[in-house]
Amino acid sequence: MAKQRGKLIVISGPSGAGKSTVVFKALEGRSDCCFSVSATTRKPRPTEVDGREYFFVDPDRFKEMIANDELLEHAEYVANSYGTPRAYVEKKLDEGMNVILDIEVQGALQVHEKMPEAILIFFIPPSMEELEKRLRGRGTDSERKIQARLYRAKEEYALADFYNYIIVNDDADVAANEFSAIITAESCKFEDRKFYLSEV
Ligand code: ADP
Ligand code: 5GP
Repeated sequence: MAKQRGKLIVISGPSGAGKSTVVFKALEGRSDCCFSVSATTRKPRPTEVDGREYFFVDPDRFKEMIANDELLEHAEYVANSYGTPRAYVEKKLDEGMNVILDIEVQGALQVHEKMPEAILIFFIPPSMEELEKRLRGRGTDSERKIQARLYRAKEEYALADFYNYIIVNDDADVAANEFSAIITAESCKFEDRKFYLSEV
């Protein structure tokens, strides 16, 4: 039987909203999804490994990736560049895998325009106070970075009206179930599966 092409799933939302936490929880036991690893000019955090969380590159290499059209989208975020390598995404979608991009709003808009079939999910914390608490609790950002991220969060909310879904990450288990349910429902769309009708 022919294989269904994978879905491109874009997740965004303020840094610290809990995207990684929720998505990792949701993907336990799901073998139909994979993560795209972005390139960034940001310096690695102590626990981050090159090629796992990000491909850490210098600004010249990042410019070269743009010039060679190696990136599906790219954007600036709090004084660093971030972008999605295109080749991996295309390969995995062709193999039938759902590919998850964790990217900010400007990049998500570029994906929405280039690939309108992409599913866009916006994650938010239950409140700005809770977001600040989580950013401090994570302990990976300086006070200046935390303030910049909180400011950027408010800017992103104002630009998010092209997303398809919102997940409020209050209880991480509930949010993970919602995320998984969206992927499952989107994968069952008639339009994407009608080719089965002629095969059975
Ligand atoms: P993001 O990927 O959106 O930047 P993280 O997944 O790194 O966010 O989460 C930020 C911090 O908030 C982490 O310390 C994480 O353990 C915590 N966190 C995530 N989800 C919840 C939740 N539902 N309730 C309380 N803390 C959470
Ligand atoms: P962080 O520095 O906390 O890892 O990520 C900062 C922001 O950059 C997050 O909002 C994250 O979603 C976004 N980001 C990570 N990778 C990419 C990417 O490839 N493209 C874009 N546009 N944003 C990204």
